[in-house]
Amino acid sequence: MTAPDNDEVPTMECGVCQIDVPAGAFCGYCGGHLASEPKRGGLRWLRGLRGDTFGASPGESVLRPAITSSLFPHLPQGSRTPFRVGIALILAGLVLFAVVKMPAALITVAALGLPLLFVLYLTESAVYRDMSAWMLVLAGTLGAALGVGWVLLTGQMVARAYGVPMAAGLAIHHLMREGIMIPAGGMILMLVPTVVVRVLRPKSRESLDGFVIGALAALMFAAGATLTRLAPQFASGLLVHSRPFLSLLVEAILCGVTIPMTAAVAGGMFGIALWFKGQTSNPHEHPGRVRAWLLVLAIVVIVIHTGVAITDIMGMAQLRMLTVHVVMTAVVLVLLRIGVQLALMHEAPDPIEQHEPLLCIHCHHVVPDMAFCPACGVATRASSRASRNERRDARPVRVAAEGS
Ligand SMILES: [Zn+2]
Ligand SMILES: [Zn+2]
Repeated sequence: MTAPDNDEVPTMECGVCQIDVPAGAFCGYCGGHLASEPKRGGLRWLRGLRGDTFGASPGESVLRPAITSSLFPHLPQGSRTPFRVGIALILAGLVLFAVVKMPAALITVAALGLPLLFVLYLTESAVYRDMSAWMLVLAGTLGAALGVGWVLLTGQMVARAYGVPMAAGLAIHHLMREGIMIPAGGMILMLVPTVVVRVLRPKSRESLDGFVIGALAALMFAAGATLTRLAPQFASGLLVHSRPFLSLLVEAILCGVTIPMTAAVAGGMFGIALWFKGQTSNPHEHPGRVRAWLLVLAIVVIVIHTGVAITDIMGMAQLRMLTVHVVMTAVVLVLLRIGVQLALMHEAPDPIEQHEPLLCIHCHHVVPDMAFCPACGVATRASSRASRNERRDARPVRVAAEGS
């Protein structure tokens, strides 16, 4: 090796991919546990899906429906707390404004709370510097415009229905056909901006870029739809004063939290599937199969998002409806994490520079610059390109006097 002796990083063979890699807890190439045995059998391509360590958050299981590490995957652990607080504030705001019956404030928080938090995420993680501003603006405005347009277009039908006019839910008790067709049409429209941005051939094809575009478009779509539908009804005062507090609160939570969240997951997963680019050079990889799985997962989430909207039509009791929404939100968050994990474990990584040190923003260790952090196992791509470039331009320098 070209590196001087005292700089040599000890290596060991990865049990999963059989490559000699720097010794650590995880393989820098495939992300597998270095202690694990090679897996055989029909699902070999799934090897190292690594259920116990989520690729965007060290020490978190893939199956844990954590909101911040799922919806804001580019953020390191330390930066997530303000976003947890943000979500708690949105919830508190919804409860407060439902109690004091302030319709304008309630609609504002419900429609704009999560989209605003997502925009803050783009700035906090510097993801906005990764992508052309025009692509982000296009995804956001086209999403919002389609959301508004969709509600105006279907407004006639909605106006005929009474009450429970949720973002995606339509209280068309007597019109099952429209009740399914309208949300289904909305779902398709919600995904259009993501397809448009993808067709315009974005510079990068990292799957988390696709997530950002898809989630942003879907969130803006939901916000546009909610504002357009609820504003006139709340303004009339009818809805607020004629309805019991619980019904108002449930509607506000669905409208402000669960529906935009499942929309963001659905749009984001669709984006991941469209952006995913597998490792074509590795004969053990099956990029086509991974993409197919990502697409299947995305479709399942889109169907769940549409299906949950239909609970409104069935005239379900308020608390039961809330329970269904909350449980399904947790389910789609887990599906999102499986999708993100699948994409991160199998996408073509940045060029690997095993002998160059890089600071891991998730565990704060200086580690070899590889696809995965050998210390905590997080994918190097679970940080913005801006952050990666910055850290590569100013690589940590090994101090000779430092003990080993
Ligand atoms: Zn490996
Ligand atoms: Zn790390």
